[in-house]
Amino acid sequence: MKKDKASKLKGLIWVISACIIGVFFAVGLAPLAHAIPWSLEKKMGSMISAPKTECRYSSQADALLKRLVKRLYPIYPDDDHFSIEVHVADNPDINAYATLGGMITLNSGLLNKAQSPEEIAGVLAHEIEHVHSRHIMEGALVHLFTSEGVYMIFGKTSTAGFARYLLNMSFTRDQEAQADEGGLRRLQAARVDNQGFKSFFERMEKKGSATTFLSDHPSNKSRMEMTDQYKVKDPQPIMTKDEWEVLRNYCGGK
Ligand SMILES: [Zn+2]
Repeated sequence: MKKDKASKLKGLIWVISACIIGVFFAVGLAPLAHAIPWSLEKKMGSMISAPKTECRYSSQADALLKRLVKRLYPIYPDDDHFSIEVHVADNPDINAYATLGGMITLNSGLLNKAQSPEEIAGVLAHEIEHVHSRHIMEGALVHLFTSEGVYMIFGKTSTAGFARYLLNMSFTRDQEAQADEGGLRRLQAARVDNQGFKSFFERMEKKGSATTFLSDHPSNKSRMEMTDQYKVKDPQPIMTKDEWEVLRNYCGGK
């Protein structure tokens, strides 16, 4: 009898799960992710290990990074629907990524290998748009609605596992294209020269560097075409050459 009850309960859980998954596919991921309050996403983000700046940096370098971020965010009326925090990780890999709650990490290797602040602005604008479009929350929902989520509910997996998933999560090609387009619009609105966006990705692809960062990104050709669609009228410089040298050596040039 007990066994019978247990199997009935198991069946019920699967029926409920199937209903949730059905609703989720009927409504679509994006509206569902946008319906989740930003405060909840922030809370979830703070529950996983938030990336922190790990190296010793000068107050001048940090002020320059903040100034660069401010140039890109907030600039739209709906930018107050989410928030951004940018940290530098002491890591030679050429990479940048956004996690839940608007935490963006720039690796020191990316800062060091970039050739202008406009290149960093291009990468940041792209990551900001992943946050703006709630792509990380979409990825988190996919994870929670799969069997992994069921394991989580029953305590068979840890928040560390969830954090690892989010940090290694790859976006779909459509999401990458959306972040590219939004990033280019943002650069245009901020009057930041988008040639930096173009040259950075072009160089990385030629060299075969930044493979993690580029793995799911649209092809260079479509990115180049998109860049030309969002021409920036009268671009304004971000910082002087001397300031850029300070910023790119944020972690002592590593
Ligand atoms: Zn991306």
